[in-house]
Amino acid sequence: MAVDFKFKLDTSSKKFRCPNCGKKTFVRYRDEKGNYAADIFGRCDREVNCGYLNIPDNEKVIVAPKIQRRKKLMFIDYEDAVKTSTRFEENNLINFLVDKLGYDAVDAIVERYRIGIDQTFPTTQNWIIWWQFDVDDNCRSGKLMKYGPDGRRDKSQSSTWYHKVNPKYKGFEVTQCFFGEHLIVGNQNKIAIVESEKTACIASHFMPEFIWLASGSLTGLGYHKCKVLKHRHVTLFPDLGAFDKWKVKASEYGWNISRALEDRATADERELGLDIADYLI
Ligand SMILES: [Zn+2]
Repeated sequence: MAVDFKFKLDTSSKKFRCPNCGKKTFVRYRDEKGNYAADIFGRCDREVNCGYLNIPDNEKVIVAPKIQRRKKLMFIDYEDAVKTSTRFEENNLINFLVDKLGYDAVDAIVERYRIGIDQTFPTTQNWIIWWQFDVDDNCRSGKLMKYGPDGRRDKSQSSTWYHKVNPKYKGFEVTQCFFGEHLIVGNQNKIAIVESEKTACIASHFMPEFIWLASGSLTGLGYHKCKVLKHRHVTLFPDLGAFDKWKVKASEYGWNISRALEDRATADERELGLDIADYLI
């Protein structure tokens, strides 16, 4: 059924308190003269965590069905993540980075990104844990990866997730956020995105003027995940070979994309799919 609305959502940036979640993220309806409809009518901008939508009509009130809520977010207990902040000297990647960047720099990186080392589970002993803390500081889970002494992924072992190796989290469903998302605070809005967590860590040392996030994969720039970057100044730094795919995302979201690697890479480097960290180191 098509309905011709007399009221339209307010196009100004004015936000009110949402009748559902109480946050000041509520856009109200106005009529042609600019008068607001009653304060229960409007749409909450927190589509994921609230989803309130109430549409007025000129004759009768239409209460739209609530937007289908996305699956409830599940979190890892903070203490479980904190427990893994230990025994860094036993991790290959950490040792490699200390060798390249020095102890203090790596110490700062570990703290910045809240990196963990798995000590609990026999199959993933001493693997690095790339914890994903979201912008609200909730732990979405951690990706466990094995690196060799050369600082590269040990591809004989596929990565896994913390909630999969810890039986306490049976039935846990992960909703990924950006690696490093907890670093987005206040008005600091120069964001840079790379694919790998390791690259984000290294780049954050050399170019601290950006908040470096990792998408975790080539396809890790989905709409819901990227909503947290609304109104921020974002630059993508794709790995070699990923430029075209990420260019599509850059234009979709109105972001910048760096050509720095594309323009300087040799054919061999392109073949290897190098990323910005390979150049920085
Ligand atoms: Zn709301």
